[in-house]
Amino acid sequence: MNLFSSTPLSFLARKASSLGVERVRYELKMREVNVLRKVAIGNSLLAITFGGEALADFESRSFDDHCKFMFTTPGGDMVRRDYTPRHFDRQKCELTLEFALHEHGLATDWARAARVGDTAVIGGPRGSMIVPGDLDWYWLIGDSAAFPAIRRRLEELPASARVEVVALCAHPADCALFATLPEAQLHCVVSTEELSAAVRALELPGGVGYAWCAAEAASARAIREILREKGLAKEAMRVAAYWKAGAADFHEKLD
Ligand SMILES: Cc1cc2nc3c(=O)[nH]c(=O)nc-3n(C[C@H](O)[C@H](O)[C@H](O)COP(=O)(O)OP(=O)(O)OC[C@H]3O[C@@H](n4cnc5c(N)ncnc54)[C@H](O)[C@@H]3O)c2cc1C
Repeated sequence: MNLFSSTPLSFLARKASSLGVERVRYELKMREVNVLRKVAIGNSLLAITFGGEALADFESRSFDDHCKFMFTTPGGDMVRRDYTPRHFDRQKCELTLEFALHEHGLATDWARAARVGDTAVIGGPRGSMIVPGDLDWYWLIGDSAAFPAIRRRLEELPASARVEVVALCAHPADCALFATLPEAQLHCVVSTEELSAAVRALELPGGVGYAWCAAEAASARAIREILREKGLAKEAMRVAAYWKAGAADFHEKLD
């Protein structure tokens, strides 16, 4: 089930790999939104739900889509950061993003201070890479910036899916954030070293599967190497650097 799908009016699709991965493009739109509500999710996430008529034709068909979250600082600067569309309610025109609460950052600070009625702009998503939900197995690996995508994926996969989740939870109680599917195994760790070790310890299942990881840049690189060493083909994995220690507004593509 894809919670975000609607009549596919505005995209071109093509099959991208032998796994049946599909790439979809959307018309790029900037949508003005306003804060409707704010809810703490465990210790590490703050869910903010936005509303606005501009969301009527919002589309996001894959769990790891991203949109540009844009807002203006009190000093008048426009800030843009990447966030995952965590949940979209088409009937109510409500989009929820989940902000990982780290020590300091313009977007994190904005989320902490946000009040009902505050305005922002959501750009995109530009497209989706849709990994089928009927593969033999899935690995979902990441730190708190990846939790929104992992949580969405767990909601959208069929109940029978075989999933291993490896999550870096700085607060061990946040292991509870992953409502597990009947066939899902959860490995909660508390450091990047443990994240790598837990991935290394995973046994590659038989059949056709897909490994997905998003984390801090150095950690993501290390995990990509481990997945390669395990013999996973390039098209059977996606590893992304979602942020970089010490760098604000970080952007980098892992090749
Ligand atoms: C495709 C994509 C999807 C993403 N989806 C989400 C999402 O749904 N939710 C989410 O919370 N993040 C998500 N991120 C990560 C988010 O864009 C970055 O964490 C961003 O840097 C946060 O902006 P900021 O203004 O708070 O911090 P910045 O101003 O960018 O950085 C300030 C300082 O905080 C540090 N920092 C940044 N992010 C983190 C972090 N997560 N943990 C610890 N320290 C950090 C930086 O190293 C820097 O020192 C996503 C990133 C990508 C590329």
